[in-house]
Amino acid sequence: MCERIAALLPVSGAEVMTDRLAGLRARVSGLDVTGPIVAMAREPPLPALLSGCEVCAGFADAMLQFFTRAQAELYGSPQARADLAARGGFCRPHAQQFESIAAGREAATALAPVLLHQAAALRRIAASKPPPGQAADLLGQLLPGGTRCPACAAAQRAETDALEHLAAMVRRDGPTVVHARSATCLPHMRRLVAVLTDSTAVASLLRRQAALMERLAEDASRFALKQDAARQGSLSK
Ligand SMILES: [Zn+2]
Ligand SMILES: [Zn+2]
Repeated sequence: MCERIAALLPVSGAEVMTDRLAGLRARVSGLDVTGPIVAMAREPPLPALLSGCEVCAGFADAMLQFFTRAQAELYGSPQARADLAARGGFCRPHAQQFESIAAGREAATALAPVLLHQAAALRRIAASKPPPGQAADLLGQLLPGGTRCPACAAAQRAETDALEHLAAMVRRDGPTVVHARSATCLPHMRRLVAVLTDSTAVASLLRRQAALMERLAEDASRFALKQDAARQGSLSK
C-alpha cells in the first residue's frame, strides 16, 4: 500500500515488488474504472493495472548500468580514478549508492584517491589559516554536487532522455499513451508537462493523473479501514 503511493510521489527509485503491492494491484484491478470520475472527465478509462512510473524505472536501470560500468572503469584505469578524485568523488547519496553496488575491493580502489585528494585540499586550506567563514566556503567547494558528480550528470541525462522519449510519444500518439504505459509519478508528470506545448494534451494528462490519484486514495482509504477493523477485531478477542 505505502509502497504504491510512495512510488507515485518520489523523484526516483525502482519499483519494489512485494506481496502487499501485489495485493494492492489485485484490489485496484477490482475497481470500477468506468465509474463517475472517468465519465465526468470524458477521458478513456485508465487501464486497470498500471506499473510504477516508467521514467523512474528507466532512470533506476540507467543508474545501475552507470555504476556497474563505473566500477569496472575505476578499478581498471588510473586515469579514471584521477578524474574522479579531481572532481571530488561522487556526491554523498551517489557515493552510498556506488558503495552498495560495487564490490568492496573495487570501491576501495576507486575511493582511496578521492580521500587523498580531499585530504591534500584540507591541508592547503589549513595552511592558509583563513577566517572560519572563508574556510567553510572553501570546504563547500570541495563537495561534489550538480554536474561535478559524474553520477549526478548521468542521472540528469538518463532522466531527460526518458522524459523526451515519453514526450515524443505524446506528440505522436496523444496524451492517453502516458497512462496506458505506467503510473507516472508527480515529479515526472511535472517535468513532462514542462516540455509539452499542447495545452489540450496537458489538460488531458492532468485529468488522467487526477483520476489515478483518486483511485489510489480510494484504495488507501479502503486499506486503512480494513486495518482498523482487523485491529479492533484483535482487541475485542
Ligand atoms: Zn517517476
Ligand atoms: Zn551525485
